[in-house]
Amino acid sequence: MEKNYHVCTGCGLLCDDIEVESEKNIVNKVYTACRVGVAHMKEAGRGEADFLVDNKPVDEATAIREAASILKNARNPLIFGLGTSTNETQKIAIELAKKINATLDDTSSFCLGPLVEALIQDKLKTCTLDDIRNKADVIIYWGTDPSDSHPRQLSKHTYFPRGSEKQRGWEEERTAIAIDVRKSHTAKICGNYFFQIPPKGDAEFIDALIAGLSGKLPKTSYNHPPKKLLELANILKGAKFGVIFVGRGLIYSLENLEPLFKLMEILNEKSNFHLIPMVGNCNTMGFNKNLFAETGYVNSVKFENGTVKHGPEHSVVESLKAKTVDAALVIGSDPLLILPGSIAKNMLEIPVISVDHCETLTSKHSKVYINTATSGVEAGGSAIRMDGVKVSFEPVIETNHPSEEVILKKIMEAL
Ligand code: SF4
Repeated sequence: MEKNYHVCTGCGLLCDDIEVESEKNIVNKVYTACRVGVAHMKEAGRGEADFLVDNKPVDEATAIREAASILKNARNPLIFGLGTSTNETQKIAIELAKKINATLDDTSSFCLGPLVEALIQDKLKTCTLDDIRNKADVIIYWGTDPSDSHPRQLSKHTYFPRGSEKQRGWEEERTAIAIDVRKSHTAKICGNYFFQIPPKGDAEFIDALIAGLSGKLPKTSYNHPPKKLLELANILKGAKFGVIFVGRGLIYSLENLEPLFKLMEILNEKSNFHLIPMVGNCNTMGFNKNLFAETGYVNSVKFENGTVKHGPEHSVVESLKAKTVDAALVIGSDPLLILPGSIAKNMLEIPVISVDHCETLTSKHSKVYINTATSGVEAGGSAIRMDGVKVSFEPVIETNHPSEEVILKKIMEAL
């Protein structure tokens, strides 16, 4: 019997080999997925769809009408989130932003946005996860801990699996290296190849690596034995197919991306290195690509009568800090939880519409809450994996929750 595999939208890996058992549109058993994926799939499909205005139950039409009225009356509404939305929903959100002259942003403006932008602009060499499984012999995890954030990455795509040119799999044919401020779960797997650096010590470590790659003695002020650094530089030099997975830890530590550009340039003079950002949400990469295709920018834009402005002042953080936005439509995100309290509190002064598959701190403080289907579990569509590969999916179960796509279309029509 042919097996029916599903896609997990629990993180940016979009694993496409998930088997599920469900009854009466409730997911009971999930096979192959990690603990994050199991929880993600099992939490869908429970309960009735909720539409709340001022925390009181209303029907869908009333919630849509109220949402449209908030957006219509706003001078500069903010549309934020969309990291777990399908490509199809994201494209409608961009159209909506254009129509209402909104500021549009996602979490990448304070996470991996600059790096993703450089990759979309072909300024850095990248590859797919399939290339890594088939060919990679040196894998670096820098400022990231996929064992916690993307639990199946090492087993499915990078260190442990066999690939077409890597028949013996891990240890014998691959070297995994972790560079981090703490001994994470991933660092423990990397064993001797864990390099602990102090917070903000990444630029100096990059300099030392570049020195080692250039035949000089690599030194750091935090006393890494030069011999160990030289050994690392030699492993990188000898790589036939290397990859650096870059996490927020590295990006937050660098003042700009120049040291990383320089390292990649030198690495590719000596060997063959690729870079992949450790994108967390299942479709942040899609948001960045879809917005870039439309505007030439990956985030932090403001639409104004057919023109588009871009800059940090149009990011969620700066626009809330400066109180330049006077309403917010939040889709699949919880800014009240994830933003610093001093900035997030300004959201409490403006009307907020929360469109989300689950209740969040933001939804609880919203004027309007529209409870939607979980993308990938209850609603189909497509998303872009962390390595830029498009993945399409069908819903796993049926639901009476409307999809984000349907809700955004209805809000557009009601404007
Ligand atoms: Fe889902 Fe990510 Fe776990 Fe894969 S690694 S099963 S995509 S949560």
